[in-house]
Amino acid sequence: MKRFIDLHIHTVKSDGTFTPVEVLETVRKKKLTAFSITDHDSVDAFFDIEDQLTENDPEYIPGLELSVTLGDSDLHILAYYIDPRSEELQSKVEEFRSYRNERGAMIVQKLNDMEVDITIDDVKKIAGKSAIGRPHIADAIYQAGAVKSYDQAFRMYIGNGKPAYVAKKNFTPENAISMIHNAGGIAVLAHPAIEDTYKHLEMLVGLGLDGIECFHAYHKQKDIDQFKHFAERWHLVITGGSDFHGREGSYGKIGSQHVSEDYLHALKARAGK
Ligand code: AMP
Ligand code: ZN
Ligand code: FE
Ligand code: FE
Repeated sequence: MKRFIDLHIHTVKSDGTFTPVEVLETVRKKKLTAFSITDHDSVDAFFDIEDQLTENDPEYIPGLELSVTLGDSDLHILAYYIDPRSEELQSKVEEFRSYRNERGAMIVQKLNDMEVDITIDDVKKIAGKSAIGRPHIADAIYQAGAVKSYDQAFRMYIGNGKPAYVAKKNFTPENAISMIHNAGGIAVLAHPAIEDTYKHLEMLVGLGLDGIECFHAYHKQKDIDQFKHFAERWHLVITGGSDFHGREGSYGKIGSQHVSEDYLHALKARAGK
């Protein structure tokens, strides 16, 4: 039987709607070989499920997704096999999370200026204990009746380059990659077809990038073929996942990318596992 892995999953620890335990239950049901929870700026999911994992479970790879700014583009870097207990890592991601909340308030202000009546408290209620991400704000806009769908909130207001968009604090690719390596992990360029961030691949390889996410809901077959070719050329490992957020809209369901478990061996070898 063909077995699959899913290396890109979000939970309530950032801007997803499933708890880490619900994700674990789902990957068990789907009989995945391995999975990684890659919350934005958070490794907290690990602490929720570490005690629940048994020998028969899919392999859990500690992960994380960071956003970095490069000129006008927003690059996402995935980390795998990082040590969630690394104090340096934890204090760095804490800084990003606190900036997320400030930025959330800036986005809400811009929305109010455009007559979209939501408050930062509405957003905080949706985000709960997690740092604010745009999906929480999109939910608030939708709940206020200002748009007909979650996706429309991005198209009209908060998508990259839209009127209420606020870029994240300047955090460079160098910072992200070295922070991941210092925490024992490997760094992978996420969904390179979104905003064509693959154009920066050569530079990122120079900074020590280890891999490229080839399989993602946004990628077309020609993207996948091109990214596999890049992986060979730059000696990068290949990864993929659903980018599941638990919401309907432009996201995949857990396991939906059917990423072969065969990619796991190279990933492990690269991380020295
Ligand atoms: P943030 O990290 O706060 O900038 O939010 C990034 C998240 O917003 C991504 O992980 C996606 O879940 C979501 N997102 C960004 N752009 C879009 C879009 N155009 N449509 C739907 N979701 C989006
Ligand atoms: Zn997200
Ligand atoms: Fe991303
Ligand atoms: Fe993601």
